[in-house]
Amino acid sequence: MPLVREEVQDWAQKLESESAEAVLRWALDRFYPRVALSNSLQIEDMVVLDIAWRIQPAVRVFTLDTGRLHQETYDMMDRVREHYGIELTVLFPDSAEVEKMVRAKGLNLFYNSTDDRHECCGVRKVNPLQKHLAGLEAWVTGLRRDQWATRTDIKKVEVDAANGGITKVNPIADWSWEQLEQYAHAHKVPRHPLYSKGYSSIGCLPCTRPTQPGENPRAGRWWWEDDSKKECGLHVARS
Ligand code: SF4
Repeated sequence: MPLVREEVQDWAQKLESESAEAVLRWALDRFYPRVALSNSLQIEDMVVLDIAWRIQPAVRVFTLDTGRLHQETYDMMDRVREHYGIELTVLFPDSAEVEKMVRAKGLNLFYNSTDDRHECCGVRKVNPLQKHLAGLEAWVTGLRRDQWATRTDIKKVEVDAANGGITKVNPIADWSWEQLEQYAHAHKVPRHPLYSKGYSSIGCLPCTRPTQPGENPRAGRWWWEDDSKKECGLHVARS
């Protein structure tokens, strides 16, 4: 049975000071198999996958193929399947929605305006994600509080109000970049090759650029927009 809001809030309090492993163990014990990990192939999601896989080797994992990813990201999907022996479910946007949008506004509409960029993220990311989450009681992310100003208040367990009130689990919410690096190195977690080419946050090819030393790690995402707008709609409406 899914948790109701009060139960989620109760667990959020109990688990806030627990380790990532303890939070994941709770989520997998409580919800499996109606819980899945979201994985963008970036280091955060890869570390969460590694911890979860050591608890439940048949952990369910999904990724979003927007149709605009780097070749290196597609290569990572194969590496992840091979390394962990898992299925890695790929979610695709609705082809009719993509066709309608591209016919009306072109393939590169995201450079026109923030509204058009949100439309593209909506069609290619948010809609397929929401469709997938409708069949789950909980999902797990690699969000961290120090990634960006809009993420400073995330909890390790929260209600996902934007997705039918299911439970959203952020087990590494309090981790630093250094902790991630240490874990990934110690456990030989597969690493996205674009990190060694200067990328510090990796999304769709036309909307991501490498960052300079000293820049915020998310500065390379939608770099032509105001900092306050740098979310794609996948992580909104928390409570
Ligand atoms: S990141 Fe760019 S290409 Fe990818 S879905 Fe969003 S706007 Fe479209």
